[in-house]
Amino acid sequence: MKLPQLPELPLFHTIADAAGELGYPAYVIGGFVRDLALERPSKDVDVVCVGDGIRLAQAVGQRLPSRPRVTVFKNFGTAMLPTPEVEIEFVGARKESYRAESRKPEVEAGTLEEDLARRDFTINALGLSLNPEDFGALVDRYDGIGDLRRKIIRTPLDPDITFSDDPLRMMRAVRFAAQLNFDIEPDTFDAIARNKERIKIVSQERITDELNKLILAPKPSYGFKLLFSSGLLQLIFPRMAQLQGVEKRGQHAHKDNFYHTLQVLDNVAEAGGDLWLRWAAILHDIAKPATKRFDPRVGWTFHGHEDKGARWTPAIFTDLKLPLGEEMRQVQKLVRLHLRPIALVKETVTDSAVRRLLFEAGDEIDRLMLLCKADITSKDHQRVARYLRNFERVEEKLKEVEEKDHLRNFKPVITGEVIMQTFGLKPSREVGELKEAVLEAILDGKIRNEYEEAFAFLLQQGQAKGLPQGHHSLTK
Ligand code: ATP
Ligand code: MG
Repeated sequence: MKLPQLPELPLFHTIADAAGELGYPAYVIGGFVRDLALERPSKDVDVVCVGDGIRLAQAVGQRLPSRPRVTVFKNFGTAMLPTPEVEIEFVGARKESYRAESRKPEVEAGTLEEDLARRDFTINALGLSLNPEDFGALVDRYDGIGDLRRKIIRTPLDPDITFSDDPLRMMRAVRFAAQLNFDIEPDTFDAIARNKERIKIVSQERITDELNKLILAPKPSYGFKLLFSSGLLQLIFPRMAQLQGVEKRGQHAHKDNFYHTLQVLDNVAEAGGDLWLRWAAILHDIAKPATKRFDPRVGWTFHGHEDKGARWTPAIFTDLKLPLGEEMRQVQKLVRLHLRPIALVKETVTDSAVRRLLFEAGDEIDRLMLLCKADITSKDHQRVARYLRNFERVEEKLKEVEEKDHLRNFKPVITGEVIMQTFGLKPSREVGELKEAVLEAILDGKIRNEYEEAFAFLLQQGQAKGLPQGHHSLTK
């Protein structure tokens, strides 16, 4: 690891000039400096000055050739300046004092030292000077560089104080550990376990924001294990924590569904899965504890856990304040169908079973196959290899049937309207039954998904039911 160095940008000199004129000591601070040292890409720059951050932002704005508009957040005492290279956020150095049961810190102007002391972690309390006398010099009051080298997350002050002041920092500790693959220093970790109940005063939006960042880490299982062992997971997402544990009766022990879920999540992450596929991995077995039964003849069963999990998905998304639109419906579908591809492996793969799967999965078919493959986690390598081989057969069959029948975005050619018009029917159960019969015939491969064939089939069905054929036509 190298020491962080300010990038050679005229911008930083412009800030230094403006700050000098106002008489404000100024520093680039926080995550940007950390990411420079780690050579991680970083988008936004934070600047702290000992003075009025909004005035500094305005002064810098006036000096920049691009004349950017300054956005002022008066309530926070901060200002944002967009530049062609980066977004810069300006704030005056501050100290904070929290009262025990309040979420709102009282903010007062403070010194640079006080500002660094209220930062969450030593690795986030680094600064680079923008002052003429020592331009570019590193400020590192808490050995943040040492902790970057040792790969350690540690609070600058007594961790009980840091976490109790803003309990979200406990989530951030775990999130940074997962993102950077760092350890949480033991005293800091113990303080999380001690202060975990304080997480309840933090808004769900902020918690979920950190959770999603953790989930997007290269190996998210690590973050979840930290959440679980600190006791935070039991508070912020109890259903997931309840997956943990093994029950044994005689010879029969089921697998630990928490660690299995984490393995599936890592597999999906490794395959480049996005946030929602990762959520589907997290939720795929979520209803196993609720559907667990013991059958003396076959051992443990979890019948219907996929349907129950899918039914729970909207409530889980609501509780976690995750979006309830298309993303939720995708996750729900993936949870509901996650057993289907592997079930196909066990049977002889018929065209009709494959058609049904394609029809139900629609656009999610590729992600469903990815999830299903990630779900193969047995410790028995031969067994895994056998499953994967069979799985490839299903994939081939899927491709074959898709090319032949184009069922992925299948819209039934025979609509309710057509049926009602043909037989002079009002909306009724009969219409639904006829529609279903046509759909079944297409999925079974009796007829092709094509209007004329399907319409002829519909007339047959109507005849069999003794329906009068009114004004039917062969055109759409
Ligand atoms: P990223 O942008 O990747 O989430 P970051 O470290 O830049 O990481 P931000 O949330 O952008 O995180 O915050 C910028 C800086 O502000 C941090 O590096 C840290 O110094 C400080 N900070 C942010 N949130 C907190 C907090 N809850 N408590 C204390 N300091 C914080
Ligand atoms: Mg940031």
